[in-house]
Amino acid sequence: MIRLAVAFLTALSLTAAVPTPESHFGHAMGADRKLIGWSQTVAYFRGLPAQSDRILVRDIGRTTEGRPMIAAFISAPENLKQLSRYQQNQKRLADPRSTSPEEAARIMAGHKAIVMITCSIHSTEVASTHTAVQFAYRMLTEQNPKFSAILKDVIFILVPSLNPDGVDIVKSWYERTLGTPHEGTSPPQLYQKYVGHDNNRDWYIFSQAETRNVVTQLHNVWHPQIVYDVHQQGPYASRMFIPPWLDPIDPNVDPILAQSANMIGTGMAYDLTAAGRKGVVINAIYDFWTPARHYQAYHGGMRILSESASARLATPITVRPDQISENANGYLPRQRSWNYLEPWMGGEWHLADIVRDQSIAWESCLFQAAVRREDLLRNFYAINRNSAARTSPNAFVISSKQRDLGLTRKLLETLAFGAVEIEKAGDVFQASGVTYPAGSYIIRMQQPFGGFAKTLLERQQYPDLRLYPGGPPRRPYDVTAQTLPLLMGVDVAAVDGPFEAKGTRVTSFQDLPAVNQWFQFPGGRKPRVAIYKSHMPQMDEGWTRWMFEQLGIAYTSLDNAGILAGNLHAQYDAIVVPDQSPVSIHSGYGRGAMPEEFTGGLGEKGAQQLKAFAEEGGSLVFLNDSCDYAIERLALPVRNAVRGLSSREYYVPGSLLSVQLTPGHRLVRGLPEEIAIWNEASPVFQIPQDAPAASIARYPASGLLASGWLLGEKHAANLHALVEVRQGKGKVVLFGMRPQYRAQSYQTMKLLFNALMP
Ligand SMILES: [Zn+2]
Repeated sequence: MIRLAVAFLTALSLTAAVPTPESHFGHAMGADRKLIGWSQTVAYFRGLPAQSDRILVRDIGRTTEGRPMIAAFISAPENLKQLSRYQQNQKRLADPRSTSPEEAARIMAGHKAIVMITCSIHSTEVASTHTAVQFAYRMLTEQNPKFSAILKDVIFILVPSLNPDGVDIVKSWYERTLGTPHEGTSPPQLYQKYVGHDNNRDWYIFSQAETRNVVTQLHNVWHPQIVYDVHQQGPYASRMFIPPWLDPIDPNVDPILAQSANMIGTGMAYDLTAAGRKGVVINAIYDFWTPARHYQAYHGGMRILSESASARLATPITVRPDQISENANGYLPRQRSWNYLEPWMGGEWHLADIVRDQSIAWESCLFQAAVRREDLLRNFYAINRNSAARTSPNAFVISSKQRDLGLTRKLLETLAFGAVEIEKAGDVFQASGVTYPAGSYIIRMQQPFGGFAKTLLERQQYPDLRLYPGGPPRRPYDVTAQTLPLLMGVDVAAVDGPFEAKGTRVTSFQDLPAVNQWFQFPGGRKPRVAIYKSHMPQMDEGWTRWMFEQLGIAYTSLDNAGILAGNLHAQYDAIVVPDQSPVSIHSGYGRGAMPEEFTGGLGEKGAQQLKAFAEEGGSLVFLNDSCDYAIERLALPVRNAVRGLSSREYYVPGSLLSVQLTPGHRLVRGLPEEIAIWNEASPVFQIPQDAPAASIARYPASGLLASGWLLGEKHAANLHALVEVRQGKGKVVLFGMRPQYRAQSYQTMKLLFNALMP
């Protein structure tokens, strides 16, 4: 009795001093109209280890704008004292080539499940950073059997935000607009400096500081069995989505992993339903195709996602029953079905509701990991063993003879960053009847994370999914292709069957030239370049800035006022208008939708100024959707042949298509005659016979699809993907593609670079 009392008192003394979120932030987490800021959040977490031995907090690097990123490790005190041992265990279980099944069994017996929960990569999805604070506090202070099991058997890595810059960007906009008609709107700027919402499409190209920090400091070190990323969705359907995912599932994802996400997700839905929460949907909307969102799925870990219905940031909303959507991908929001058992039919919705639902879901996920600790560890080892046993293909070989060694280096560095092992051959060797020179690179598939290399190096065959047999295509959640050799113009061969080559493992590729060496303006004559920046934030605009900065291309951001002021040709040689819808370029935010200074677009006057710029000798460059703006507003003599076609007739939801380039044209300098371009519902140009326009890239007569999904190729066959239209002394260049797509399509970036030259 006495010993128990002492133990109880000790437990109390360790938790009594943990500050409540209310005492630190001045309000409860999820309180109406209250958002927490990043420095306060970091201060809260950094203060916790002094008050509790259940938590450690580590810095994992700096954000794009220089804020600290942190990860909290929450577990029983005795586990936290041995973190490096558990990290070592993970490393050994991750590599079955050097860890025998007997050793693995021994390691598992004394090991813990590793679960990582990551918050607010999308900064307007504000709840999860609040949930992180609240949940951490509870895990450090509450005594209950579920938490005890979690603390004992799980090492819980909590990342309170994957995008801290956005936490402050959104909070500052929210507070600025609080009490005005614009309360609860999204800020009129990207919430990550370069890529905004696309920060969750960066998990295989690793372009942004935030992605790189999390991959190097957490993923590649801890290889968590579960990575749970917490999101929010629109307000008018389910309250929360959880896996099972929708089809398709990338063929390179181990079926055990896919099945385990089905299991844990369904368990979370079960716990939410049992807790009285309505509106829980599984197997809907979100698919499991692209590695752009699922890094862990190629590194032995399952991805759990939850998507909670949103309020208006921290402003509560009331949803009427008639506002509930009638349709959603995978379920009917007004009807009961096996995967949506209790439709939510409207009512009040507060930030606190989201925080509460997320807390239930997190507890469920972590508790399941504790209960199934042994299974998860055994299967983690099995998944990595399956991967290392892959024989088809046997390897990928990258010849050291390439058109562009800078891009070859970029591709190799990308794979190596994703923990792929690469060898360099010391001698000439033969594989599949081809002779490769010494210095060529070999990526053998007999390695734990070989599936990551495979999915990035092979051509994707996206299944022909229809809403119903013979019906329109069922749209993918994102895009359908990720073939790096096509995006970067590097020759990569898949080799089936055995071959002999002596290779040495390499992790640095600095003997190859840097990618930006190609992007030097001939004769050092640098054009004066401007990038149009709308008040409606455009991710493609951010990606353009990012690519230009990486490649050393100086630019000026040009807003509506800058264009309307005119005199453009005196200031710039080239103006780039990134991928943006024509109506938003022309009109921008409508009156009243935003504070006055953010409303309006280029209007008629802006179009006239752009036209004058070209007529006086400038180069106007339009990317993807903005080409339709140019055709219409500048009255160009070309036509977009696929505009207005239904998805049943013609469909390219983000795929790589083959084109033939016009030899000798100024824009194709440095490129082969046949390349793949990134087409994402891109315009396809028809040039009337006497039009003052030249084709620079033309689709072939058939066989357009290089990777991904394409329906109705006849609508693009023999037509044009890149044209230059003469306009007075200057020209308008129309890119029916995304030439700098998400910092991936480096090969077509050369076309864009060439287009900037006068
Ligand atoms: Zn999201």
